[in-house]
Amino acid sequence: MARATVTACVNQKGGTGKTTTCENLGIALAAEGKRVLLIDLDPQGSLTISLGYPQPDELPITVTEIMRKVMDDETIGENEGILRHEEGVDLLPASITLSGLESSLVNAISRETVLKGYIDSRRKDYDHILIDCSPSLGMLTVNALAAADSLLVPVQAQYLSAKGLELLLGTVHKVKRQLNPRLKIDGILLTMVDARTNDAKEISSLIRETYGSKIKVFKTEIPRSVRAAETSKEGRSIFSCDPKGKVAEAYRDLAKEVNEIAEQRRKRKLEEFR
Ligand code: ADP
Ligand code: MG
Repeated sequence: MARATVTACVNQKGGTGKTTTCENLGIALAAEGKRVLLIDLDPQGSLTISLGYPQPDELPITVTEIMRKVMDDETIGENEGILRHEEGVDLLPASITLSGLESSLVNAISRETVLKGYIDSRRKDYDHILIDCSPSLGMLTVNALAAADSLLVPVQAQYLSAKGLELLLGTVHKVKRQLNPRLKIDGILLTMVDARTNDAKEISSLIRETYGSKIKVFKTEIPRSVRAAETSKEGRSIFSCDPKGKVAEAYRDLAKEVNEIAEQRRKRKLEEFR
């Protein structure tokens, strides 16, 4: 029986490639035969839109209703709200109503672990659950950090915001101490790497030097490509638009790296139980 690895894509900075990574890493994992659930946890619904649902507001059930049910102690149907995507992933979509829910979380009991309650109940059905976070470190993101086994931090190779990274690491440490001691940072993922400029190469090696000893930086780097920028607007994945391109290849490589890490984690867990 599958026990999903839960990974949150986080960075409080917008435009670093979180949504693109969730979508395409998820589809690459599904192509390897893994069972994948993507959870859109951004009120903007970018992941939902980029998977081909241009009007998230018109969806009858989204992550808002599911989290509301957890808060109200109501039962949730096995696949309630789940959309089945033709490229093999399941999606729990989001719409703008999620921002209203975020405000009401403040007064909820166990406000940090509402999402965890839902996710833990779905672990048995998937190999990977990926959460697409909004660009903030608010209550929704804290819910993602409390529910996750590990974090994937997309960083745009153009500028290194050391301060931003420190802020994120501070929040991670707090969540580890207070809510989720097993939380790991699987790695920093360099995105939109422009191989032709020295800038990107410098930033890549700077990040590896500065953080490499403390945090894993994924071997795979995601190249910048015009096609990748277009696909999200069209509501299609890079695999359906440009399957032979370098971005598709990079997400396939990333899926392999992510699988290896998940496999090691599973082995370690098994050994702990012995
Ligand atoms: P975030 O979710 O962190 O805000 P997105 O995944 O939405 O970031 O990406 C931000 C913008 O960059 C989007 O317009 C997206 O299409 C574009 N983008 C993402 N990855 C690439 C890439 N590899 N090459 C070029 N553009 C990209
Ligand atoms: Mg996004």
